[in-house]
Amino acid sequence: MFSLNQHPTGRHYLQIPGPSPVPDRILRAISLPTIDHRGPEFGALGRKLLADMQKIFQTRHPVMIYPASGTGAWEAALVNTLSAGDQVLMYETGHFASLWNKLALRLGLQTEFVGLPGIEGWRRGVQAELIAQRLRADTGHAIRAVCVVHNETSTGVTSDIAAVRRAIDDVGHPALLLVDSISGLASADYRHDEWGVDVTISGSQKGLMLPPGISFNALSPKAIAASARASLPKSFWAWDEMIEMNQSGYFPYTPSTNLLYGLSEACDMLLEQGLPAVFARHQRWAAGVRAGVQAWGLELQCQDASVHSPVLTGVVTPPGLDADVLRKLIHSRFDCSLGTGLGKVKGRMFRIGHLGDSNDLTLIATLAACEMGLKLSGIALQSSGVHAAMDYFSDHPTQA
Ligand SMILES: *Cc1c(COP(=O)(O)O)cnc(C)c1O
Repeated sequence: MFSLNQHPTGRHYLQIPGPSPVPDRILRAISLPTIDHRGPEFGALGRKLLADMQKIFQTRHPVMIYPASGTGAWEAALVNTLSAGDQVLMYETGHFASLWNKLALRLGLQTEFVGLPGIEGWRRGVQAELIAQRLRADTGHAIRAVCVVHNETSTGVTSDIAAVRRAIDDVGHPALLLVDSISGLASADYRHDEWGVDVTISGSQKGLMLPPGISFNALSPKAIAASARASLPKSFWAWDEMIEMNQSGYFPYTPSTNLLYGLSEACDMLLEQGLPAVFARHQRWAAGVRAGVQAWGLELQCQDASVHSPVLTGVVTPPGLDADVLRKLIHSRFDCSLGTGLGKVKGRMFRIGHLGDSNDLTLIATLAACEMGLKLSGIALQSSGVHAAMDYFSDHPTQA
């Protein structure tokens, strides 16, 4: 039976912080015929992509491309650098940091999960001093790696990765620095080499504007050296064969050929625009969306103005309003998807994604959907967030 509800007109507003909307240009690239991944053209595609991804990560060192979701690349970073029973210091910024910690435990690593107590740690970025304190006490250098999330997608908080590097170096500790920038890369400023990161993990479906299905490890020479000694079992994730085959632009097993066409297009789009412009565009959107939330009189999940995420905004719902009930209402009435509260903040907040293929008007429309949903839920708003965002965007033209 035909139902208009199941076939809404216009475009769905996919405003979750990943998967993000996929631009037509990328969808068209993905639709091209699949080629032989051992054939003559593929090597040129592979070499181009690997060079482009080095630019995106801002690194001169190898980048691994896996046909897997981000979770696979989390695992790859750990199994290539560590051995069973190794001690790892992980920092709790939110739900994604917790999931990575759980994954590490399942691999047989001994993790120590540090952070500010309770919900407080989910409202601020990484406190580099807490990491320094713990490393200072580790005089025998038993801790092999420090793991942090660059852009915590569950809360809308970004962390200062250079400060974490400085904390490790100031103590003179040899631990590797592993960073999840699955949702930060290609939206928030990220510099793998300059910030001294040993492994950066990322994924396709956030700032890179691709469908889910590919993920990355960017390496450092120190990480590659560690991989020669690391003894956790690995085969599919092993860097050694990948690095060797990648020299000529090929992969040890069948890569996601069509997603790689999309990745090539995404890199062209990002590099044509230039990374500084991409980062500025996201900061501006985030500021406009925050102006909207503040005009409503609602609280932001992130409590430190210096680390608001440029990728997404976490909005705390007023007492008595379950954020998931609000999200369902907005989805059913206005065909707009918003991010759910995860883990400790389930029901307490929702997330507005403002990344990738967005523009001022998609964000105005998204805020309008939220504003209508809040009003329908009986919330007395202080003022119109939509108007505040319109003012913000009109008063702050994009820098050419
Ligand atoms: C999306 C995301 C992940 C998980 O990636 P999957 O592709 O779902 O496996 C991990 N960490 C962060 C910060 C993310 O945003």
